[in-house]
Amino acid sequence: ADVAGIVSAETAARIDAEATAEPLAWSIGDDVNVGTLVRSRYGEDAVARLVSPMLGGVYSASADSLGLRATVPALAAVFDDLASAEEPVRLSTAVSRLLAEREDAARALAATGEKPAPVFNSFVHGYRALIRALAEDADADIRLNTQVESVSRWRGRFWLEPVGEVDAVVVATPAPTAAVLLGDVAPEAGTLLGGIDLASSVVVGMRFDTDDGLPQNSGVLLGTDAPGVHAKAFTFSSRKWPHLAERGGAFVRASFGTLADASLVDADDRTLIGYAVEDLATVTGFTARPVETFVQRWWGGLPSYGEGHLDRITAVRDVLADSPRVALAGSVLQGVGVPACADSGRDAALKIIDDLSQS
Ligand SMILES: Cc1cc2nc3c(=O)[nH]c(=O)nc-3n(C[C@H](O)[C@H](O)[C@H](O)COP(=O)(O)OP(=O)(O)OC[C@H]3O[C@@H](n4cnc5c(N)ncnc54)[C@H](O)[C@@H]3O)c2cc1C
Repeated sequence: ADVAGIVSAETAARIDAEATAEPLAWSIGDDVNVGTLVRSRYGEDAVARLVSPMLGGVYSASADSLGLRATVPALAAVFDDLASAEEPVRLSTAVSRLLAEREDAARALAATGEKPAPVFNSFVHGYRALIRALAEDADADIRLNTQVESVSRWRGRFWLEPVGEVDAVVVATPAPTAAVLLGDVAPEAGTLLGGIDLASSVVVGMRFDTDDGLPQNSGVLLGTDAPGVHAKAFTFSSRKWPHLAERGGAFVRASFGTLADASLVDADDRTLIGYAVEDLATVTGFTARPVETFVQRWWGGLPSYGEGHLDRITAVRDVLADSPRVALAGSVLQGVGVPACADSGRDAALKIIDDLSQS
């Protein structure tokens, strides 16, 4: 019932019927392509209009490029639980169980009188405020605009070209670069990381003098089968962030490009701004013209967590555990969101501290 207005009647019926369909063949620890799974159980609409737009907003990739265990780990865990209890494994059973758990948690929280944490968080002055504070606090020697070309062990320490000699190394670059940089000091980890694809995207930021007619929600995700549009999503930034609304008018961000089709990332600014304005009008009826625009391209900005990603990362971690004073951090590991990246940075620092204390 929740998605009846989005998918076809046939798909809605399939979603209901799945709860009694032939169970999935699932063994504990299995992984599966998300698109293949949802298409086989619910049909194409569910992939194109629900799952790909949602995951695409995070990974810049369609459900067909992503593995379940790394991108929807809670669902993979329920599949494991059902299999271990020798109960039939079905998508609807697992989804219902997750929704019930979420409702229980919300009820338990409400009973304590606490407010739920906001879905979105940001910094009033943007991420630069955080980066600046971290840099000041660390009081480190930070070399900006310096591309490390190689890392090699040298006289019991490391030599970074062109930086020089260092005690330890945390590689926090995109996967293909990490693969190259680790090629000498941890070649097996380098080979494993070399198999991770990167997705590119481009965002068009727009400022309008008015917000009259802009929908009252935080944004829209577009189905991958939506006809006649180029954008994959719009964020109504001034609706999502009260501190932006205070500036007056409206701020809207259009997003384009996926792992499978990055052609728009190379389109010129004029074309992209044109698509952003047209698509916004088509999707929402908001026809104001932007008074200011900004185009930001993110070539290879996000790693794509395909099937088996977590096994690959476990293997990388095993190799690095045996590589003293070398660690890996960032979105390549186990979560592309900033909180997950920050956690991985902390883990890497702890490994290095531990290794240094032993040497
Ligand atoms: C458009 C977009 C929107 C996003 N929105 C959100 C969001 O709303 N919330 C959220 O939590 N996450 C969001 N993310 C995801 C998140 O921003 C990233 O996953 C995260 O910033 C990755 O951090 P990282 O440190 O692993 O990698 P990066 O931020 O990519 O940093 C890698 C760094 O390595 C440097 N580098 C590369 N090669 C070398 C070299 N050879 N030598 C030295 N340095 C090198 C690069 O210059 C870069 O600074 C978004 C991502 C994109 C692309």
